[in-house]
Amino acid sequence: MKTTASTPDYSRHPCFNAEVKGKFGRVHLPVAPKCNIQCNYCNRKYDCVNESRPGVTSTILSPEQALVYMDKVLTAEPRISVAGIAGPGDPFANANETLGTMQLLRRHYPDLILCLSSNGLGLTPHVDEVADIGVSHVTVTVNGIDPEVTKNIYSFVRDGKIIYRGLQAAELLLARQMAAIEKLKSRGVTVKINFITIPGINDHHAEATAETMAKMGVDLFNCMAMLPNADTPFADVVEPTKATMNALRNGCERHLPQMRHCKRCRADAVGLLGNDRSGEMAGCLNACAT
Ligand code: SF4
Ligand code: SF4
Repeated sequence: MKTTASTPDYSRHPCFNAEVKGKFGRVHLPVAPKCNIQCNYCNRKYDCVNESRPGVTSTILSPEQALVYMDKVLTAEPRISVAGIAGPGDPFANANETLGTMQLLRRHYPDLILCLSSNGLGLTPHVDEVADIGVSHVTVTVNGIDPEVTKNIYSFVRDGKIIYRGLQAAELLLARQMAAIEKLKSRGVTVKINFITIPGINDHHAEATAETMAKMGVDLFNCMAMLPNADTPFADVVEPTKATMNALRNGCERHLPQMRHCKRCRADAVGLLGNDRSGEMAGCLNACAT
């Protein structure tokens, strides 16, 4: 394990810098199984679709197990420059595990870029710790900036012991997302927005969302096509075509740079973006979990 003090070279993040996507890779550490909301496109029996295609994560790791796994990953694939947490639930519905993992990684791997992806509901109280640890890149999934639109996307939003539904749920989630983004930017964190495009629900709303996010100082916008998942309320929604997505991204690009090379990775993805090695590393991942 590396212990020399240095600052990560942030230009090596293959998701935020498309020019290096063939040179550097990322690993997702599956330490966050629980979620605090229910998106109508997500079947948690499988995976988080915040940033993932619906494939199972092979297992769940503790922070200490994630550190051991990281060591093995870097030995097998030294081009990994980023360690992220993207589920399979939400990192801040599992804040202790998420922050514990990030702290361990920062201590042992000073050169590693640290990255998190969240729905934003529970993020704000942890932003200072996130920034202090040196997590430089955070993605928030914002599926719209009008609760009348987004109320159709979530079955519920759970805040502590209270469960909200419908408009109330959408209003609470949006308020939390806006507060989190504002605080992340005040702490100098690079912020990407994931916008999951759901035909007939929020596809007319992508550009307005990008425009608002630009005003908040967001750095990058990732307009993604929803992947229909079995056994979900949106199972029968037809996935938007490439042409539709290109047109939406062109509109959003009037306001913010677009990520156009996202691979919608698994919660245990590992390797270069175009050459995922999660299948190959599954045995190692499972061994670390026991
Ligand atoms: Fe699923 Fe992620 Fe939505 Fe939670 S935030 S319900 S894990 S897609
Ligand atoms: Fe990068 Fe997209 Fe994969 Fe996340 S889901 S690691 S942003 S390519």
